[in-house]
Amino acid sequence: MAKTVLVINSGSSSIKYQLVDLENGEGLASGLVEKIGEPVNGIYTHKYNGEKHQFEDEVIKDHEQGLKRVLQFFDEYGPNLKEYDLVAVGHRVVQGGSVFPTPALVTPETIAQVKDLAVLAPLHNGPEATGAEVMTRLLPDVPQGFVFDSSFFFQLPEASATYALNKEVADKYKIRRYGAHGTSHEYIGGVAPRVAGKDPEGLKQIVLHIGNGASVSAQISGKPVETSMGLTPLEGLMMGSRTGDIDPAAVFHLIRNAGMNVDELDTLFNKKSGLMGMTGHGDMREVLALREEGDANAKLAIDVYVHRIISYIGNYTAQMGGLDLITFTAGVGENSAPIRQFVCEKLAPFGVKIDLEKNAVFTSEPRVISTPDSSVTIAVIPTNEELAIAQKVAKLAEEGDAYGNKFNA
Ligand code: ADP
Repeated sequence: MAKTVLVINSGSSSIKYQLVDLENGEGLASGLVEKIGEPVNGIYTHKYNGEKHQFEDEVIKDHEQGLKRVLQFFDEYGPNLKEYDLVAVGHRVVQGGSVFPTPALVTPETIAQVKDLAVLAPLHNGPEATGAEVMTRLLPDVPQGFVFDSSFFFQLPEASATYALNKEVADKYKIRRYGAHGTSHEYIGGVAPRVAGKDPEGLKQIVLHIGNGASVSAQISGKPVETSMGLTPLEGLMMGSRTGDIDPAAVFHLIRNAGMNVDELDTLFNKKSGLMGMTGHGDMREVLALREEGDANAKLAIDVYVHRIISYIGNYTAQMGGLDLITFTAGVGENSAPIRQFVCEKLAPFGVKIDLEKNAVFTSEPRVISTPDSSVTIAVIPTNEELAIAQKVAKLAEEGDAYGNKFNA
């Protein structure tokens, strides 16, 4: 019987889940609960065996109601969680701060700690802790674990993790560069050397995780030395709806001159900027199509998008003292041949050579898209955060965590 892990990603008004087969790494079933806590009927989508079951038949008042219904879907539409050997439930958490450099078993204490860290990730940690609290009540006999998006970057060198902010303030309010998307950067950094046929020892690589959210990391021998997201996921590359890097004085300027308050600024920078704010479209496919039609805003948006990526590649190459491998991943990185081409062509003066035919092939297979004589190998590898989370919590279930917790101990 296949061993499985149920991976849960709880947001404030939504829950995503996937049942992962630990042997072949595949998602056996997946689903989505939307509009939790809203005064309208919520939407449930459960996918299994090529079938999609969708319901919009009740107001979903909280995560408990949503997750109870999800467990009923597994009973009614499969796969039956008792028949499949469910060894653990994994909860993705955005912010582990300095408290969680590694994954943790879900216990009343770790739930409280995750909630405390919500100061640093107000939109994420609260719902993520609630999801874990509810699932432990619903499935008390199954070990459950937290996997933190920030853990991988806990190993960043101090010079990269530290802002040049007043030390007293930075220490008191725990302001430093935590990074995000760590599970994906670690997973890709681990797989990429194999795909590229390179020895991981001493390998200098850049991982471009560019989806709706976007971040870049630099890794030497698989250890992170730089990443573009900071205190929150707002810093760094231009994204679907986030500004990425911007002079913080823009905030003072808007407070003084536009009378904006904190929430308005948060929404402007996180939800109404980036591709969305510059073109009215947050989806890269639509922006590229507009650019093809000659739309000036779309052209500028793509120019800025690529400009940022190149700035980071240059920066990180200098920080690492060289570069052997660049890997593209996530929605845009895995699927957009034009964006990969624009980035690689800008790097041509440094001997980077993209194979345009290989780049144009649309497949979900991990692959190399540079020519054999390129100065840097360019790879495209689909990320699989669910599998990475599943593997980590399966290990927690067996061995316990690094904080002395053991399941049922
Ligand atoms: P998230 O950050 O939400 O996990 P994903 O990694 O799933 O995002 O990426 C989603 C984004 O990927 C979409 O918003 C879209 O812009 C982009 N995308 C998906 N397919 C393509 C494609 N064929 N060409 C360009 N962009 C694409």
